[in-house]
Amino acid sequence: MASPEVVVAGGTIMIKEPTTNEVVQRLQEHGVNPTRQRIDIAKVLFARPQHLSADDVMRFAREGGVNISKATVYNTLSLFSRKGLVREIIVDPSRVFYDSNPTMHHHFYNIDTGELRDFDADLLQLSNLPHLPPGTVADGVDVIIRIRNASYQ
Ligand SMILES: [Zn+2]
Repeated sequence: MASPEVVVAGGTIMIKEPTTNEVVQRLQEHGVNPTRQRIDIAKVLFARPQHLSADDVMRFAREGGVNISKATVYNTLSLFSRKGLVREIIVDPSRVFYDSNPTMHHHFYNIDTGELRDFDADLLQLSNLPHLPPGTVADGVDVIIRIRNASYQ
């Protein structure tokens, strides 16, 4: 299953939420056994490309009528991250987001508002990268550009 399908209806962009079958297939493709609770959590995450904290995931699941423990949410998000279903974005040790956008991208993080926003990986050109330590290969580059609101005084 690809990212959620974007449907344009009457000029409004709507995102088609994944069905249970699509979520099950996506979990299985990543080697995750699709238990009921994992499916519930995956449905919250993959409703659209988004950045959610563990608390957000638990709140949205509960709003959707799914009662789930904090420990289960944390364990499941950790598993999804290890299996490559979501990216863990650690903006600081007290703020971890789980990113369901599967495309290559980097982030702006607004330290005033706490907002995390995507930008396309192609917009950033990296040059003069250091030599990798011997015996290693590059596995990926994650860039977080920290921004703050400009003051107009
Ligand atoms: Zn993102």
